Amino acid sequence: MTTKVYYGSPLQARIGAEETLPAKLDLILEKLHLRDRVKGETVVIKMHTGNNMIYSTIHPVFVRRVVKAVREGGGKPFVADINLDAAGAEERGYSSETLGCPVYPGGGPDERYFYTHKRKFKGMEEWKVAGQIQDASFLINFAHVKGHPTCGFGAAFKNLALGCMVGETRSLIHDTCHYDRYWFAEKCPDEQTRQQIIASCPVGALVSDRDDPRELHLHIEPCTQCGLCLKVAPPGSLKIDAVNFHVFQEACAISTSITLSTFAPGKAVHLSLATHMTPVCDCFGFTGMPILPDAGVFGSDDIVAIDQAALDVIARSSLIVEHVPASLRRWVYEKGHPFQRLHGPLKDPYKVVEYGEALGLGSRKYDLIDVLPVDLNAEPSRWFIPAS
Ligand code: SF4
Repeated sequence: MTTKVYYGSPLQARIGAEETLPAKLDLILEKLHLRDRVKGETVVIKMHTGNNMIYSTIHPVFVRRVVKAVREGGGKPFVADINLDAAGAEERGYSSETLGCPVYPGGGPDERYFYTHKRKFKGMEEWKVAGQIQDASFLINFAHVKGHPTCGFGAAFKNLALGCMVGETRSLIHDTCHYDRYWFAEKCPDEQTRQQIIASCPVGALVSDRDDPRELHLHIEPCTQCGLCLKVAPPGSLKIDAVNFHVFQEACAISTSITLSTFAPGKAVHLSLATHMTPVCDCFGFTGMPILPDAGVFGSDDIVAIDQAALDVIARSSLIVEHVPASLRRWVYEKGHPFQRLHGPLKDPYKVVEYGEALGLGSRKYDLIDVLPVDLNAEPSRWFIPAS
């Protein structure tokens, strides 16, 4: 099945507001018939408000346009994020005054308000959906597209998978990377050899396990899959294996499917803004240089299609290597998707849409519909600074 993804490119032909991304977001909301769909609904707008001093999350100008459309349609909107980020959202410009609706911690200030869902996966038994999110009757999943150190990239899936669960579940999702064994202590002869393996990692991704010093712990996030540790490790003692990297994305797909299952059919839309994309997740709490050119704004009823489309559009552009922080720059790969070049071949950003499609959440086949194609051969427009 082919689904529609509405798209606003970052390109402009003329100097003026009509061709900007907020204006194209308005057109996308019209194409999605958002106003017609939210009458009488309690609408949760799930977004990542970041933390600390980040300023590359979705600007309030965009969020306010979505809030306005919901209100015009007769819906009752609120923004939700995890408690840690919602607590300081106003420091980054997200407040009732700027957005036109309140910002709530989805699971309450201590994340004690949740609904438990049973599903076994890699040692996980329970998934706890933030109560305010499950209580809403309509979901607007408004994601900022960026890199991610665990899986290469984060957007629509990631925004729901982690951001709609309470902290206990978020931790367990990250822990799935360690469910399948990658260290076999019985194949390592002595402590000295183990220390040599740890020392061989140029980015400090290998450490002694804090509970059992004979065990090795692999921090997935900084691991670039360079393989240097495998040259030191005795045969069979250490694996740098796809299963430990892909599992996080499978967990994200499952987590997303659980949250989406709490909304009736047709009661969820997905929006993604691919601007000021940075190497790591917005939860890191800072903004660095953009590592990719802006890719635009996307909207769809299909969460698989929207992430697939964003990845495909980004794949046509080049990583801005000189903007990659120096500590990561020497490990940038020559080939692959820009996010894979940055985070390594096993952090394949497309895995999450593969898992999501397998779970029946949508289609990787889509029509990309540009809501305002830009005439790049346009004649110069007359423009001036309006006199006050
Ligand atoms: S593959 Fe490279 S980055 Fe990863 S743990 Fe081994 S040495 Fe470190």
